[in-house]
Amino acid sequence: MADDSRGAIQIFRDPVAGFEYQAVCRLCEDPECVAACMAVALTLDRKTGQVLFDRNRCVGCAMCVMVCPHNAIVPDRRAGKAILCDQCVGRDKPACVAACSTGAIDFVETDDAVTKEMAGTRK
Ligand code: SF4
Ligand code: SF4
Repeated sequence: MADDSRGAIQIFRDPVAGFEYQAVCRLCEDPECVAACMAVALTLDRKTGQVLFDRNRCVGCAMCVMVCPHNAIVPDRRAGKAILCDQCVGRDKPACVAACSTGAIDFVETDDAVTKEMAGTRK
């Protein structure tokens, strides 16, 4: 059985709404994870808005895990590092999207105001 604690994508259950959701990086405009990372393992690419993760610099302090309001970063306790989905930079399609046989997930770029409001990250 796969060890899902090591996955870059975590599934959480909202006990109030009663549904499950996928915790991924919401590309915060002013990312608290970047500000919290003293090792400079997390940086903001101002051109794309993406948070980049340099695993080699990560010291596993878990500060980013604590401050991320969207549960997008998880600790890999075995490796002593953080895990952040890098959205498969450089690939045409993220590996999870390519692998999902039912097409339950997709990767789209959007400028939709409602989506941003749901993400709670943009003005
Ligand atoms: S705080 Fe969380 S959701 Fe926001 S940019 Fe960092 S990892 Fe992504
Ligand atoms: S766990 Fe790694 S990425 Fe997160 S704040 Fe600490 S050094 Fe930075």
